[in-house]
Amino acid sequence: MSFKVSVAKLVAKVGGPFSKFGSGSGKSFAGILFTKIAGIDAISELSKQLGIGSIILTGTNGKTTTTTLLIKLLSTDVPIRSSFESNTINAIASAFIQQKGDIGVFEYGIRNIKYGIPDTVQRVVDPVGVVYTTISQEHTQVAGVKNPFEDYYKAKRLLSQGMKRGVIVTNADDPRTALLGLDKEKDVHVNYYGIETDGIEDINGEAVKCPKCGETLTYSKYYLNHRGIYTCSCGFKRPELNVKLTDIEFAPNSWKLTVEGDLFNYTVSKNINFNIDITVPPYGFHNIYNTLASITTYASFTPKVENIESTVKKVFNNLDMSFIPPGRFEVVDIGGKFVGLGQGDNGDALKINAMFMNQFVDAPLEFIYTTPDVDEEEIFEDHYKVIKSMNPAHVIVVPGRHSIEKAEEYYNIIKQDFPDAEFYPLSYEEMDVRIERLNELARNSDYKYVIMTGCGEEQAMWEEIKKKMINR
Ligand SMILES: [Zn+2]
Repeated sequence: MSFKVSVAKLVAKVGGPFSKFGSGSGKSFAGILFTKIAGIDAISELSKQLGIGSIILTGTNGKTTTTTLLIKLLSTDVPIRSSFESNTINAIASAFIQQKGDIGVFEYGIRNIKYGIPDTVQRVVDPVGVVYTTISQEHTQVAGVKNPFEDYYKAKRLLSQGMKRGVIVTNADDPRTALLGLDKEKDVHVNYYGIETDGIEDINGEAVKCPKCGETLTYSKYYLNHRGIYTCSCGFKRPELNVKLTDIEFAPNSWKLTVEGDLFNYTVSKNINFNIDITVPPYGFHNIYNTLASITTYASFTPKVENIESTVKKVFNNLDMSFIPPGRFEVVDIGGKFVGLGQGDNGDALKINAMFMNQFVDAPLEFIYTTPDVDEEEIFEDHYKVIKSMNPAHVIVVPGRHSIEKAEEYYNIIKQDFPDAEFYPLSYEEMDVRIERLNELARNSDYKYVIMTGCGEEQAMWEEIKKKMINR
């Protein structure tokens, strides 16, 4: 390690914990200090200190939950360095500086090439693992900027493109993430995960275009939106699964999952087999994918391969719903009234929330919808399809972001199909008022089932509403 890097590391280590910066940058402050002094390329000297290496997780949805589960699994076996929910290179650098352990587990979100630096992250972090959860179209509009899907997809690809060793863990049921794996098979090991049981089927699946040739894919089965079993006339098809869900039994208070694995473990450099039954809370279909992603990644990197079955059982059989990240959707029982609430920032996320809520609903439902902003018409269109598919008895519309005017425009579209719909022009600036009112609307609803979801700041809005609603 060069003198400059050593000094930068020391300064960052000492200065980091005393950061007075606002939330968000706090976790990253040591990294910010370090890169200011030593430069971003110097992060590669820090990454070399990890005996095994770093694993980076990315995807449109599911990455925070998958990262959380992976941290639980791997840290049961070995000390690890980790960061989640803070999607910057500085958060990763901070973990390098402030934590100890031979494996790093880092969530990394990429909106597009302009907002992220996936190729730089790949180069300086030099990961031995890149994990892809799912890639949805819905994030094509971000912060008012039209962001072509091709650029978004390319940014995801760049995160693993330079890898020359290690393992890519990718969702085989999602054609987009599957292709990212297939294209790297010549350089690294690829461990594919997916579903292979008749116990799950999505009745409203959506065929997407082949990421390789552009033709519309043919699906023999849908599991969740565009994820399923697919083929294309160009020869592209779902790859063979290394880790698969082979059986599922649903009960009201718990689900029993059977997961079979046959994959390459990077740390011990050999193939590993397992067959595990786990019992989890009824946590929603999307969390099956997060479970498979975390188990596959864990089994690809744990140095204690003999522990795989016992560690997976220990973590999942003791799982409660608190593993869900702050602000994310959950269904709460407030004295016989069931309120499903939490973030649903894109169409995919909102549909998952709707499917989760539908497990409970057996009477008329009220939908309290928090809208997207200006220039987010595409998100609204995706959202509105889901709202209509739930066939709510009553709809309430509230701005989820800044613009009240735009929210009213969305409301006027909704009103054409739901003439009784109501609009509450609650302002972003008076967030406390908005939060209190949303809480009251759900609490005082005439309906037994209420779903309250859409756009809104994860922590600053949804988590605060949840805290009010369940008094925690
Ligand atoms: Zn094709």
